[in-house]
Amino acid sequence: MKHRNFKTVPKMIFGRGAFDQLDDVLMVERKSADDYVVFLVDEIHKDKPLAGRIPQQDGDMLIWLDVTDEPKTKYVDALTEQVQAYAKAHKNGKDPVSVIGLGGGSSLDIGKAVALLLNNPGGAASYQGWDLIKNPAVHHVGIPTISGTGAEASRTTVLTGPDKKLGMNSDYTVFDQIIMDPDLIAGVPKNQWFYTGMDCYIHNVEALEGTYINEFARAFGEKSMALCHQVFLEDHPESDEKLMMASYMGGQSIAYSQVGACHALSYGLSYVLGYHHGIGNCIAFNVLEDFYPEGVATFRKMVAKHNIDLPKNIMKDVTEAQMEKMIRTSQGLAPLWDNVYGPSWKEKVTPELLRGLFSRM
Ligand code: NAD
Ligand code: ZN
Repeated sequence: MKHRNFKTVPKMIFGRGAFDQLDDVLMVERKSADDYVVFLVDEIHKDKPLAGRIPQQDGDMLIWLDVTDEPKTKYVDALTEQVQAYAKAHKNGKDPVSVIGLGGGSSLDIGKAVALLLNNPGGAASYQGWDLIKNPAVHHVGIPTISGTGAEASRTTVLTGPDKKLGMNSDYTVFDQIIMDPDLIAGVPKNQWFYTGMDCYIHNVEALEGTYINEFARAFGEKSMALCHQVFLEDHPESDEKLMMASYMGGQSIAYSQVGACHALSYGLSYVLGYHHGIGNCIAFNVLEDFYPEGVATFRKMVAKHNIDLPKNIMKDVTEAQMEKMIRTSQGLAPLWDNVYGPSWKEKVTPELLRGLFSRM
């Protein structure tokens, strides 16, 4: 058996106020007068105090990101072209010395994608898959402002393309630096805080209950799970710190294991009906009590405690063609089902099983 040779983020800063050290981090990369940095920032932060703290210098480029939809290949291609046009007009075609992704999972993934595409021609859709990226990315930094996805730790950037929702998975995708500042996630609206936070909780349930589990993934997954319990069941005073670390450790756990049934269903929901990842996971997880009895029971306690709105009866207007597409998308995620059932998954994951689960959402 060959074991995974797992690339991790080499540099990280953690702690309240750590965002202000971004300037120092970038000073190391800025070596000559025409060096410049590209900031890709969730537009939710425009006109907020954080915008005024971005260490932007003359000649840098700042682009506000529209994350209404989760990142599409077309969008990251357009952003890459925008940076290249700027480079051609003002910088003799020179790449930026760093690309910063500042925001939630969507903005972090956009930061990774643009840094990769600046050095890998041909458009994002041609790199959706595993290890298709040929050249190292531009130096890139991830700074989460909402926690749960683990995108700060992972080797993928999840993109919706013309024919699939699939990441650009590669060692080059991994951030060169992350800054985890719990101040930045304070004040996220409650429902969104919960949906994105549950992404982390669900990663842990799926990894810990899965057939791919090993002591590496368990070590991170169990700690991340304990932190999720403190955050979502106990209102711990240091919840922001704890959720931020839970997200990072959940990401580390998944990197050496795999997600499961909830993510398989949620990818179908998101690809066909456009549900965002966090809320889609919550909707899917709520029908999975046969798969994860304890995990789902605790999840329902968390939903009740925080008075969260979970959409119900979402299949009422779905056409047969859409249902079939969701089933196909979900059934196609072989490693996820392998992690649920082991190698005999193909006999178990029938269209009838999936239709039954989707119909209850
Ligand atoms: P998101 O980035 O889409 O953000 C959700 C909402 O929260 C947005 O409206 C955003 O503007 C807002 N927001 C962000 N920070 C805020 C703040 N500080 N205050 C107020 N509002 C704020 O959501 P997400 O759940 O973090 O990320 C989902 C995306 O991450 C999906 O595209 C999913 O596919 C991807 N994902 C990636 C990985 C990975 O390993 N790369 C893993 C899981 C999910
Ligand atoms: Zn997830």
